[in-house]
Amino acid sequence: MLLEIEDIRVHYGKVEALKGISLEVAEGEIVTLIGGNGAGKTTTLKTISGLRKLSAGRIRFDGSDISKMPGHKRVLAGIGQSPEGRGVFPGMTVEDNLLMGAYSRRGNFDKDLAEVYELFERLAQRKTQMGGTMSGGEQQMVAIGRALMAKPKVLLLDEPSMGLAPKLVQQIFSIIEEINRRGTTVLLVEQNAQQALKLAHRAYVLETGKVVKSAPAATLLDDPEVRAAYLGGELPSETAAAEEPGSPDSAAPPSKA
Ligand code: ATP
Repeated sequence: MLLEIEDIRVHYGKVEALKGISLEVAEGEIVTLIGGNGAGKTTTLKTISGLRKLSAGRIRFDGSDISKMPGHKRVLAGIGQSPEGRGVFPGMTVEDNLLMGAYSRRGNFDKDLAEVYELFERLAQRKTQMGGTMSGGEQQMVAIGRALMAKPKVLLLDEPSMGLAPKLVQQIFSIIEEINRRGTTVLLVEQNAQQALKLAHRAYVLETGKVVKSAPAATLLDDPEVRAAYLGGELPSETAAAEEPGSPDSAAPPSKA
């Protein structure tokens, strides 16, 4: 297993945001975390990358216990993160932003830049534009490209589709698929559960700091509770129309007679 999270607890002051979360990501997988607002998805990613401290539990990565490893060492160990809110340096060019991702390692940056530009054609056209003048979607691409420049073994993506126009959402998801096809393991947090489940191999559903379901992504796409709570309640096809209505506390629309 590339990444193993065992029963982690994380607090913000006295509030326990993660109440004993366990999950695993195997090499080569795309795993997604879905769940409502405040479920603990972002906190889970931040804890893996070392931005938040554990109060209990353990994180193993690539054979080592990294629970107490500082964040910058986790980057060197192969954990790459494109943070929520993006964090693009506004006064630096697109290319310099990308190169910042590789500052801590040696290598053939020209080749790595070429690979990022191949994935993100838009960035290739705008190498010298200032980061701060890129559109929201373009900044998202810069942030992902910068994380890739560190050559991570696992890429943690927090809401890559946030605020993007539908056409760009599709594009970002197919780029994530391509990144994975080229060998990078992906742990994806998404509000867009439908798209995330279509892309991922496996998924975990988080509710108020706990994992309430884990299954192959295709299974969750057909799960009536998941559909009702996170996928707008629509059924995938006519053949699924005989399913039970959602649970009483779910957001399922009233079933049609
Ligand atoms: P969303 O989809 O809304 O981004 P999330 O699943 O990513 O939600 P988190 O951001 O991980 O959820 O938040 C989990 C819980 O921790 C929430 O109750 C949130 O209010 C709380 N929390 C997050 N960050 C802080 C903070 N800096 N200080 C205090 N509480 C926080």
